[in-house]
Amino acid sequence: MVRPILRYGEPLLHDVAPPVAPDAVTAPATRALIDDLLDTLRNAHGVGLAAPQVGVRQRVCVVDVSGGRRPEDLLVLVNPAFEARDGMQLELEGCLSLPGIEATVARPARVRVRHLDREGRERTVIGDGLLARALQHEIDHLDGVLFVDRLPGLSRRLLLRRLRRRRRAEGW
Ligand SMILES: [Zn+2]
Repeated sequence: MVRPILRYGEPLLHDVAPPVAPDAVTAPATRALIDDLLDTLRNAHGVGLAAPQVGVRQRVCVVDVSGGRRPEDLLVLVNPAFEARDGMQLELEGCLSLPGIEATVARPARVRVRHLDREGRERTVIGDGLLARALQHEIDHLDGVLFVDRLPGLSRRLLLRRLRRRRRAEGW
């Protein structure tokens, strides 16, 4: 089921989400949440989506850097945690919860992330470039951090002003 995506300003987007309990990872409610995240991600043509963006306070996110073109690129991450991060990349970034704005964000270039998959199995994903960026962006969502929070004060204020103008113009 495609769910509405919360937008900047919703308090839930700025909260730290608690982990999924070990016995709840494969429970029907978590499976339904994962299915909804995947449906909503595809519908929005995004590369990643986190549970708080659809109003659920849980450490669950999905990432697909192929935008739906390669099934093997689809990642479901429950309770993800960084094991390693290194290097630096500077790339343009946007977010489905902040429509219409983009900014260059500095992030580590490579990451190793431990997580559970949808069957509750322990997994490790190693990524660089766009995958590393998407993983960090989605895990940030689980900590209540948005990409604009990683920008220096002035560019953050300018972007948020543009976002507010858009919100007023479109009435959301
Ligand atoms: Zn986002």
